[in-house]
Amino acid sequence: MSRRGIAPEHWTWREGPVEPGRAVVIDIDGVLSDAATRQHYIEAPRRDWRGFFDACGDDPVIEEVRVMLDLLDRDIRVVLLTARPARVHELTEAWLRRYHIRWDVLLMRPWGDYELSRDFKQSSLWDLRDFGFEVLLGIEDDRRNVEMLRAEGVPTLYRHSGYYD
Ligand SMILES: [Mg+2]
Repeated sequence: MSRRGIAPEHWTWREGPVEPGRAVVIDIDGVLSDAATRQHYIEAPRRDWRGFFDACGDDPVIEEVRVMLDLLDRDIRVVLLTARPARVHELTEAWLRRYHIRWDVLLMRPWGDYELSRDFKQSSLWDLRDFGFEVLLGIEDDRRNVEMLRAEGVPTLYRHSGYYD
């Protein structure tokens, strides 16, 4: 649980902590990065999530979402909220730099956290609100996360990636 103005330790700031304010919450896999080429790792019956996440450094960017972030008011905080595990943190940051993606804070699943993606994202949303962010919009490709965010009062765009069909 975080207190207002104090961020949990596993949050990463691009350029140091920003003042809380109006924010958008953006998923990475299937929203900013096109994971289609590593989709085969998580096809049933043997879902290899480790292989799926470890291959994330080579994804193409989803250009329309990258551009949209650039077009948002400079006043809006960009929160990247992903269920990727912390062990691919360096890969993820390098990938964000390579495509010049706008972001302020990156929330990844901490070491040893094996919660469902939806539960991790829900508790992260509570942390974001405790910190003082006003989360105005979400973008997600997993319908379970879309439903959770909407139920939490966050209008959320669904982007179809096909990963969860
Ligand atoms: Mg996703």
